[in-house]
Amino acid sequence: MKSQEQCNLYKNIINNINDAILVVDYLGNITFVNKSAINLYRYSFDEFLNMTISQLMHSSKFLESQFKDNYTDMINYKKDNSSFFAVIKYFKMQDYIIFYIRERTKRELKEKENKNLASIVESSDDAILAKDINGIIYSWNTGAEKIYGYKRKEILGKHISIVIPEESDDSIDVILDKIKRGEKIDHYETIRKRKDGAIINVSVTISPVYDEEGNIFGASTIARDITGEKLKNRELASKYEELSAVYEELTATEEELRANYKELEMAKEEADKANKAKSQFLANMSHEIRTPMNGILGVTQLLEFTELNKQQMEYLEILKVSSHHLLDIINNILDISKIESGKFQLNFTLFNIRDVVDMITKEISVAANKKGIEIMYYLDPFIKQELFGDVLRLNQILINLMNNAIKFTERGHVYLKVKKIYEDIRKVKLEFSVEDTGIGIEDDFKDKIFKIFTQAETTYTKNYGGTGLGLAISKELVNMMSGDIWFESETGKGSIFYFTAEFSLGEKYVNDDSEKCVIKKSSENSNVAEDSIVLIVEDNEINKKIISSFLKQLGCKYLTASNGQKAIDILENKFVKLILMDIQMPILNGYDTTKIIRKKEINTSKHIPIIAMTAYAMIGDREKFIESGMDEYISKPFSIAELENILKKYCS
Ligand code: ADP
Repeated sequence: MKSQEQCNLYKNIINNINDAILVVDYLGNITFVNKSAINLYRYSFDEFLNMTISQLMHSSKFLESQFKDNYTDMINYKKDNSSFFAVIKYFKMQDYIIFYIRERTKRELKEKENKNLASIVESSDDAILAKDINGIIYSWNTGAEKIYGYKRKEILGKHISIVIPEESDDSIDVILDKIKRGEKIDHYETIRKRKDGAIINVSVTISPVYDEEGNIFGASTIARDITGEKLKNRELASKYEELSAVYEELTATEEELRANYKELEMAKEEADKANKAKSQFLANMSHEIRTPMNGILGVTQLLEFTELNKQQMEYLEILKVSSHHLLDIINNILDISKIESGKFQLNFTLFNIRDVVDMITKEISVAANKKGIEIMYYLDPFIKQELFGDVLRLNQILINLMNNAIKFTERGHVYLKVKKIYEDIRKVKLEFSVEDTGIGIEDDFKDKIFKIFTQAETTYTKNYGGTGLGLAISKELVNMMSGDIWFESETGKGSIFYFTAEFSLGEKYVNDDSEKCVIKKSSENSNVAEDSIVLIVEDNEINKKIISSFLKQLGCKYLTASNGQKAIDILENKFVKLILMDIQMPILNGYDTTKIIRKKEINTSKHIPIIAMTAYAMIGDREKFIESGMDEYISKPFSIAELENILKKYCS
C-alpha cells in the first residue's frame, strides 16, 4: 500500500473509534481530534485546532511536566456550555499527550452515585439500617454495628425487635403501620437494647423505602446514640438544680442582709439623732453655764481691785484658777459639740506667726518654770511672717499640745518647732512640732489618743487633770486647716506631737476676701477717751453690774438699758459713743435693735459702733451680727483686758 493510502486508512480507523481522541501538545494546544470528538463536544475540526484542552476540562494536572499515564473521571464542557461526566484515559507519546474520552452512560452514573451514597452511609457514625415491611433487617452499616453491638453478618435477616427493649414505649407494629401509610417518623427519642444488654438512648428517624415502581417495600432508620448527651444533660440539670438551690439560699441571705442593713440604718439614724441631740444639749448647757461664769470671772477680776488681806488674796487666786479651769472645760465641750453637730467654722484674720510663737512660749513658761522645765523654740527664718488664717484656733492647738507636754513632763525640756513644708504664691503649709522629755505614751493607748474623752489614765486617783478632749478638738481643727496631726512617743523618754496646717499668704489675699472677713487694725497706742459714754444693753442684772464695774474701772462713763427698746429710747436723747449689745433679750433682741438703730442712722452721718456680747458663738452667728449691722462681737465671759481693747479700738 502506498503511504498516502495507508495514512487515509489510519485516519479512517481513528475517526471510527467510539472514544473521542484529542492530541494535545505540552502547552495544552489541541493539534488533532477525531470525528467522535467533534460529535461529542460539537466544535468543528478547525475550531478545535485554535483551542486548548483547558477549554474542555480542568486540565492543569495533565500538563504538569511529571505526570504518569493514567485514567480519571472528570466533568467536561461542550460548545453549548453543557457539562457531562467523562472517563478519560491519557498517556504521553513523544511530545504529545493523547486523550481518550468517553461520556459516561446514565446507568454508569447511577451506579457511581449509589456507590458514593453507600460509602457515605458506610462511613457515617449514625446507625443506618433498613428493614422490610415485616420488620426484617436487610441493611446494616458500620455505625449500626458500633451503636447496637451486632455485626452485619449476625443481624441481617433478623427481626428489628431484637434491638427494642420490652420497657420501650414505642411499638414496632405501630411504626410499621405508619410506614405502610407512607408516613415518616422524625427525630424521636427512645431507648434501644445493645447486644450486650445495655440500654442506650437514641434519637431515631424512620422513613419509608420505595421500589422502582413506587411501592413501599420497607423502612430505613437513622439512629443516633444520645446516651452521652442525655447523661450530660442530666448532669447539667442536676448542676442547675444545685445552683438554683445555692441561688435561693443566696437570695434568702441577701434578703436577710437587706433586712439587717435596714435595721442598722435605722439604728444609725437613731444614733445620729441621739448624737445630734447630745451635741445640742451640750451646746445649750455650755451656753447656759458660760453666762453665770461671766459673773464669777467678772467678780473675781473686780475683787482684785479691792483691798484684800493675804488670806483673801489666796482664796481669790484659787477662785481665779478654778473658774478659768472650769471655763476651759466648758469651752472644750462647746467646741466638740459644735464640731460634732457640724456647726463649727474657722474665722480668718491676718496674723504674725512670730507673735504667735512668742506669745505661746511666754504664756507657757509660767507653768514650765514652776516645774523647772526648759522651754525652747525654733521658727524657720524663711517663713513669711504675715499669714492669713484662724489664729485663735491655731493658738488653741498649740496651747493644748504645749500644756500636755508640760503636764506630762517632770524634768527636761519642751521644744516647739515651726518649719515650712511648701509654699506657692497663694499659700504656705507649715509643720509644727512639740517635743517633750516626759512620761511618753503606752503602745496600747496610741491608737485611741485622738478619740474624744480618752485619757491614758482611767483610775479614780488621777495624777493629771483634763477632759480628754484637747487632742480630739485639735485633730478636727487641724483637719479644717487642711493638715494632719500625728505623734511619735516612747514611754519613759518622751513624745513629739506634730501637726501641719495651711495658711494663705499676705495682704493680697486679705483684700480678695475683705468682704467676707472684717479685719480692722487697731491703733495700738491710743487711749480710751475719758468722756466716752458707753451704752450697755443687757437684761441680766449680774452681767450688767459686772460690765458697769469693768467700765468704771477703766474710767468710762456708761448708761444701761435692760432691753433693746429702752436702748432706742435712750439714744433719742443721749450721745453715746459705743454700744455693748446683748443678743437674747426680752421685748426687742439685739439683732432687731441694731437694725432699727442702723435704719435711723441712714439720714445722718452717724455710725455708733455696736459690739455684740454673746455667749452663743455658733456657726452663722458671725454672719448674723455683721448682717444686722453690728461691728464686732466679744464673747462672754470676757476679761477687763478684752473690754479695754474694744474700747481702745472704737472710743479713742
Ligand atoms: P487632756 O485634756 O486629758 O490632756 P488630751 O486629748 O489633750 O486631753 O490628751 C488625751 C490624753 O493623751 C492625755 O490624758 C494623756 O493620757 C495623753 N497625752 C497627751 N499628750 C501627751 C504627752 N505629751 N505625753 C504623754 N501623754 C500625753
